[in-house]
Amino acid sequence: MNPFIELGIRHDIVNAITELGFEKPTPIQEQAVPVLLTGSNDFVGLAQTGTGKTAAFGLPLLELLDFSQRHPQALVLCPTRELCLQISKDIEKFAKNIPNVHVVAVYGGASISDQLRQIRRGVQIVVATPGRMLDIIGRNAIDFSNVRYVVLDEADEMLNMGFQEDINNILSTTPDEKKTWLFSATMPAEVRRIAKNYMTDPFELTVGTKNSGNANIEHHYYVIRARDKYAAFKRIVDSNPEIFGIVFCRTKVETQEIAESLIKDGYNADSLHGDLSQQQRDKVMKRYRERSLQLLIATDVAARGIDVNDVTHVINYSLPDEIENYTHRSGRTARAGKTGISLSLVNLKELGKIRQIEKVIGKSFVKMEVPRGEAVVESQLFAMIHKVQQVSVNDDHIDPYLPKILESFADLSKEEIIKRFASLEFNRFLEYYQNAPDLNVDANEGRNSFDRERKGKGERFGRDGYKSDYTRLFINLGSVDEFTRGDILGYICNTTHISGKSIGKIDLKGVYTFFEVENASVDKVFSGFQNAEFNGRSVRVENAGEGRGDSRGGEKRNRSFRNGSSDYNGGRRKRENGGGFRDFSGGKRREKSRW
Ligand code: AMP
Repeated sequence: MNPFIELGIRHDIVNAITELGFEKPTPIQEQAVPVLLTGSNDFVGLAQTGTGKTAAFGLPLLELLDFSQRHPQALVLCPTRELCLQISKDIEKFAKNIPNVHVVAVYGGASISDQLRQIRRGVQIVVATPGRMLDIIGRNAIDFSNVRYVVLDEADEMLNMGFQEDINNILSTTPDEKKTWLFSATMPAEVRRIAKNYMTDPFELTVGTKNSGNANIEHHYYVIRARDKYAAFKRIVDSNPEIFGIVFCRTKVETQEIAESLIKDGYNADSLHGDLSQQQRDKVMKRYRERSLQLLIATDVAARGIDVNDVTHVINYSLPDEIENYTHRSGRTARAGKTGISLSLVNLKELGKIRQIEKVIGKSFVKMEVPRGEAVVESQLFAMIHKVQQVSVNDDHIDPYLPKILESFADLSKEEIIKRFASLEFNRFLEYYQNAPDLNVDANEGRNSFDRERKGKGERFGRDGYKSDYTRLFINLGSVDEFTRGDILGYICNTTHISGKSIGKIDLKGVYTFFEVENASVDKVFSGFQNAEFNGRSVRVENAGEGRGDSRGGEKRNRSFRNGSSDYNGGRRKRENGGGFRDFSGGKRREKSRW
């Protein structure tokens, strides 16, 4: 017999979840479903995301509610819009074969009138983020007097985000007799308090060890000097060419800066944080989900509820302030039975924090060495060889060119041809990592060999050190042209054929932008823009150093170029990929949040 039937789930639902690939219950489903199906208990489930907890409460709700009635009977509260949409879609999928099931997703940053319309039409299950839910309650647009079950999903997250008061207010509109089911990845004192305040003798279930991380996650750490962090991070990324990762920073500013530096250095990265509008966040997430982005740089709160499978690495660029958050971060990898790595970049002073985290998650970290230059070059080389082995050849299209290609190589041996193809990519990394210093700190000595080797090496250590070697230029394109700093960087590099490394600070304004260029590349920039045009408008680049302040206007500076054909493709290419456009004027905040 199908094990879900044995748990007490009806055939119609089992058929639907079988189509979703659920063959047997996950541990939390196995243990929670029978308890929740009785409908007579309050419940506390300690479980990570990715353990199947949506079905653990969703399936019993579908069994317990009366779908011949069209009033709200279940309310699911969760911290983020992403999770809200995920849960409501999942429940709809589970209910595919049951008639008259109406689920509404209520979340901020989207049209409230559509949500109100759905509520008016009649719904049995409301899945909501607290801020928007309260808004709707405040409009007297929903009646919770018949609610029988309230689910608090990712309760710790909701509290972290400051939703405590909102939750109190929402729950006060539901009947006293309702049952409350609380799910949380961690159990800090605040969640305990909620459980105590809102529940009577709840049934408690812990899947895995308390507060422990997923067993499929390996925890690594690298000891480096703070100032080498970015260089070390790039090495780690470069030595994992197939990385599909989420990089956690502590602040919005750090998130933004790391993303910009990475874009500038040619990485496929973008940032996700609370200053982005909902639409911008959606765009970034869409690109990440579709794997058009390889590295997502995020703040803790922005990354909540991200349910992307196959994340290979979680990178703690900065350790979280709260240890609990480490569990949330690392839980973004090793989902649905996969394995993953959660790695942390720490300096000597932070080693104590690693030990504290080890205690909390009940697992040891493995100390890793930042790869040496040669190791990175080797990884890249073999990744490329692997790509060549895997590439699908379109015979019909390549065949017509083949005779000419073969002719060009006629004088070369097979070995020589292989060497040349391999060198295409290899040379770039070889050049970059040639003489690259060791970035590891010897934990005993408290210093690294880097100081001795640093002088004269080619590695970039951030732009500050270069500032005096830069010239500040003005360009008459800005955020109104839908440019982000990343876009404008791409645009300048594409138009002028200079490397992103030659560009310093980018100061994006409304209708214009200031950017710094290494002195040696200034002429290239001017000649590159000589005939440039953007959307039918001439593009003007001027030296901003001599009197052009941030306030617009003033006379024309010594050198400027305008008119001519369009050479633009950088920004547009990004846009076609669904590139996220950041609103540097500070987009509207979604819901109540601290980021
Ligand atoms: P959740 O923790 O609810 O976000 O679920 C994590 C992932 O596991 C989702 O992609 C679910 O579709 C999937 N999932 C949940 N339960 C099962 C199951 N019993 N068998 C296979 N996959 C499942």
